[in-house]
Amino acid sequence: MKPRHIPMRTCVVCRDKKPKQELLRIVRTPEGEVRVDSGGRLSGRGGYVCSTEDWGDRQIRAKLGHALKTELTQADIERLSNEAGED
Ligand SMILES: [Zn+2]
Repeated sequence: MKPRHIPMRTCVVCRDKKPKQELLRIVRTPEGEVRVDSGGRLSGRGGYVCSTEDWGDRQIRAKLGHALKTELTQADIERLSNEAGED
């Protein structure tokens, strides 16, 4: 039997490689909104973050902002944290 291929992605915050389903996809849409892409089908520049990542960590804002090539405000982080906690 062939081993099942598990798609791996790298978390932009801690640089760990994890199966895609253990990560959240964060997307900056063409409108400039930053969203948690829970359906996996938003277009725009995206990055992956562990679903267990600590949104209170000061590093997350800079690292995620860098990955998405945008400036994130503390309000963005709080909104993402709320969206991330919904599922
Ligand atoms: Zn991580």
